[in-house]
Amino acid sequence: MDEFQLIRSYFQPDARGEGVVLGVGDDAALLQPAPGQLLVTCVDTLVAGVHFPEDAPPDAVGHKALAVNLSDLAAMGARPRWFQLALTLPEIDEAWLAAFSSGLHRLAAEQDVALVGGDTTRGPLTITVQAMGEVAPAQALRRTGARAGDRLYVTGTLGDAALGLDLWQRGVRPAGGDDPAGYLIDRLHRPTPRMAAGRAAAGLARAAIDISDGLLADLGHLLDGGEGLGAVLQADSLPLSPAYRAHCDDALPGRAALSGGDDYELLFAVAPENEVAFQTALQNVPAGCTCIGWITEDSAITLQGDGQTQVLTRQGYQHFN
Ligand code: ADP
Ligand code: MG
Repeated sequence: MDEFQLIRSYFQPDARGEGVVLGVGDDAALLQPAPGQLLVTCVDTLVAGVHFPEDAPPDAVGHKALAVNLSDLAAMGARPRWFQLALTLPEIDEAWLAAFSSGLHRLAAEQDVALVGGDTTRGPLTITVQAMGEVAPAQALRRTGARAGDRLYVTGTLGDAALGLDLWQRGVRPAGGDDPAGYLIDRLHRPTPRMAAGRAAAGLARAAIDISDGLLADLGHLLDGGEGLGAVLQADSLPLSPAYRAHCDDALPGRAALSGGDDYELLFAVAPENEVAFQTALQNVPAGCTCIGWITEDSAITLQGDGQTQVLTRQGYQHFN
């Protein structure tokens, strides 16, 4: 099988997406954004052994390569539309390619995004996806703009992927996804991009970011978008899954929920006057959305719980007081 057969077999879906004037097969794609919308574009690379375990299931690698990019579009409040795939492969392994492309195409179909082009090269296993979406100019969510007094909301649950990675690295390989370990590992390998939440929050949240490096690190980026801001987090409010609670033996609320990466949840700063409208818009979002604290003028990030206040660094715990 040569490069062109490979593209035809695995990466040239027949269906032409809406707005795709010309897709895979020419020198470049021709795309038609809806009138009046901004084009939103992002790119993320996954390197084997760095961004996913070398032995991760290939369908999960296909899913995750697209999911992490869709998560960035969600964090901008965008509707996802198209993507490109640059694939660097050490060899042509058809079983791997079949599973990889099925994971990729399944998520693409679910989210109604069309593969419109890419590149295929030989080298150490590396997957780059560039995703494109649309948003009305006034609705785009940015990292900047949060202010003291804004409420902090987060989708889904925190820390699951970090616990999943720990289990995977310790050699746990659950047969199904039904037990807690299977659930946590699945959250690592197959993160769900929070598209509905991002769209619902567009125009209502004051700032937004997706949590790829851990809550504290990405909250830090949101706070950096304003002048000298800090935050108070409420330990009892941090959303934790039943599987997380079953597996986490840290002191509450758990290091993984604060600092663990790879969750791909969305974090929003919401102005007090928009809070009711925001809650209403997000109440039917499948992942749910939880208020975990608020933004302060004082630049520290503190965690309140159990009658104690802990000052946190942006990486994790610093000291108690
Ligand atoms: P060129 O040499 O003009 O860059 P390529 O041979 O790299 O063309 O690609 C031929 C066509 O196949 C292009 O439309 C390109 O977008 C598409 N393509 C290449 N690799 C992939 C891939 N991994 N997934 C999807 N489309 C791809
Ligand atoms: Mg090329």
